[in-house]
Amino acid sequence: MQQLAQRVGLVEMPMTIEMSRKGRELEAKGHDVIALNLGEPDFDTPDFIKEAAKKAIDDNFSHYMPVAGFADLRQAICDKLKRDNGLTYTPNEIVVSTGAKQSIANAVLSLVNPGDEVIVPAPYWVSYVELVKLVEATPIVLPTTMQGGFKITPDQLREAMNAKSKVMLLSSPNNPCGAMYSREELAALAEVIATKKDFYVVYDEIYELITYGTEHVSLASFAEIKDQVITVNGLSKSFAMTGWRLGYMAAPKFIADACDKLQSQFTSGTNSIAQRAAIAAVSAPPSSVKYMVDEFANRRQLMFNLLSEIPGFKLYLPDGAFYMFVDVSDLLGKSSPTEKINTALDFSMYLLNTAFVSSVPGEAFGLNGYVRFSFAASINVLTEACSRIKTAVLNLK
Ligand code: PLP
Repeated sequence: MQQLAQRVGLVEMPMTIEMSRKGRELEAKGHDVIALNLGEPDFDTPDFIKEAAKKAIDDNFSHYMPVAGFADLRQAICDKLKRDNGLTYTPNEIVVSTGAKQSIANAVLSLVNPGDEVIVPAPYWVSYVELVKLVEATPIVLPTTMQGGFKITPDQLREAMNAKSKVMLLSSPNNPCGAMYSREELAALAEVIATKKDFYVVYDEIYELITYGTEHVSLASFAEIKDQVITVNGLSKSFAMTGWRLGYMAAPKFIADACDKLQSQFTSGTNSIAQRAAIAAVSAPPSSVKYMVDEFANRRQLMFNLLSEIPGFKLYLPDGAFYMFVDVSDLLGKSSPTEKINTALDFSMYLLNTAFVSSVPGEAFGLNGYVRFSFAASINVLTEACSRIKTAVLNLK
């Protein structure tokens, strides 16, 4: 008899991955599927980073390395945090991991006990709630609305916090909706966070460089709560390096030490070649990836214009990241010739099966009635996708 540990049953497969699997099934049957469900840039890694990796191979960086990352990489990350974020950290407060996902997991594993409460504003990135469940803590989901800019208010946070609250998981720019917290909004949240000194915020800045004119502000830049913030970042999105698997955290030393300890038993240090390449990436100024951001900006405008023409779609123009998070609630209750659309998941499946466009329903991000479309695809592909989506929606009665 097959007997897995109970913890496997605590978590679910991300719906993003599930949609990819369904899309591949349709492709295998010969359909031309446009994948707008993906959370990765369609660009290749910049050449200057690839060169650094090639050199690292030739220089024989092929041995075990410090668990928290090479000292010079951690110094380069400190320099980047100073340059771009106005944050002062020392290398022993930095832990490099196998993707920002592992950095977030390290933080949750280090700080959260079973029975603790973890505050997760919705919409949230798919893995946040699953990680909380994995450590047998309780996710306290704080819903937001499009009208409210998809942001929690200080009052919402104050009301959610109690003696059991341990951590909040927050991203800005947000995945799936692209909302960004302004300096004033963060200052107001910081005031609330400062009232409970044993409460920590994992502030996920992975989309930091992919913004469209809105200023990115690090939560740790508010001095009164710096010792309560774990800043998470990585190379996947800003440098088109999803496959290299490199993320990092900057955290109070006792948390960094704990993550170093846990990571030493799980994965050890991140791949040495990716680490050497990361020095080149984080040392480069943000302008080195401007060409990608400019292209994302064109696509964002195109996608916004084309999706705005679709009856029943309510749009939000994202401040950052590369997703349109569309309110499709007006379409729920309608029917196609073969099925009734009751939920955003039904709508997403309808689009996949009839228009061969994959998306991710809001249920995956803790907010029903929405669908996320990535615009990390070429202008031609996005134009074709929007035309297919429009036809599919017009066929709903
Ligand atoms: N945080 C957010 C908000 C993300 O969207 C993602 C990837 O989709 C990650 C973290 C994970 O990034 P990485 O590839 O560095 O593990």
